[in-house]
Amino acid sequence: MSATQPLNQEQPLKHVEEWDDYVAGRYQEGREQKEFRNFESAAEANPGIARFYRLNHTGQTVDFVLEKEKQYGALARGKHSLWEAADYLNTLVDDSDPDTDLSQIEHLLQTSEAIRKDGHPRWMVLAGFLHDLGKVLCLYGEPQWAVVGDTFPVGCAWSDQIVFHDYFAENPDAKVPEYQTLYGMYEPHCGLDKVHMSWGHDEYIYRVARNYLPEPAHYMLRYHSFYPAHRHGAYRHLMSPHDEEMFAWVEKFNPYDLYSKGSAKPNLKELRPYYEDLMAEFFPSEIDW
Ligand code: FE
Ligand code: FE
Repeated sequence: MSATQPLNQEQPLKHVEEWDDYVAGRYQEGREQKEFRNFESAAEANPGIARFYRLNHTGQTVDFVLEKEKQYGALARGKHSLWEAADYLNTLVDDSDPDTDLSQIEHLLQTSEAIRKDGHPRWMVLAGFLHDLGKVLCLYGEPQWAVVGDTFPVGCAWSDQIVFHDYFAENPDAKVPEYQTLYGMYEPHCGLDKVHMSWGHDEYIYRVARNYLPEPAHYMLRYHSFYPAHRHGAYRHLMSPHDEEMFAWVEKFNPYDLYSKGSAKPNLKELRPYYEDLMAEFFPSEIDW
């Protein structure tokens, strides 16, 4: 950790799912987007969420992201099966909270089952099951703001399409002129693969799974929380034509992540053989985390 970056361990959310629920509410059919664009009223309505974004927008600096990419990019935390990761993630659930009676595995299965019901390719069903496994970062001791939250590029000007944009004023990178231009440390249309995204569960699961799934799945995993781009059209100036094409898959994936929560409780026991087969089709029994 660099000396200028005291890692704030404050946990303003009851649970990381509180962020997911907030985002789902933000994009509820027919809901006025304006209500979330007014900084003061949004902060007042959701103090815990506002505090969370303040920590996220302040802490996600170029230095912080590069350090996390190095720390986790080596995938040196041991070999585990996908089920082990899912079981491990389930230990995050706080059973005393009546709002989160759905376990982590249930959200994964609701997402993947909704994809499956719509007849999408098998790799997409599997990507649906995996998409949030990167939240095991919480169990590695990462604070909430370095695990969840809308993601965005670091090292260039922050789009005003990022929710709670005002908090970026407190980010140390605000004082680095090189990072405050439209392109910052990047070239026009350089492609997102060259862009460093704020650190969180998306980037981590992408790195864990990338050797085993086809490219559209990489985009779904890596950019599923990149709401400024896939919902608001921001950062097109960094994207390549190939990114634009691949983002069709990110957009296709997003409604399954956001809107499958209300669906029937999945029966893990019944579904398990299907997922065992699916995992064996694409992954070895254990992978590096
Ligand atoms: Fe997610
Ligand atoms: Fe999710």
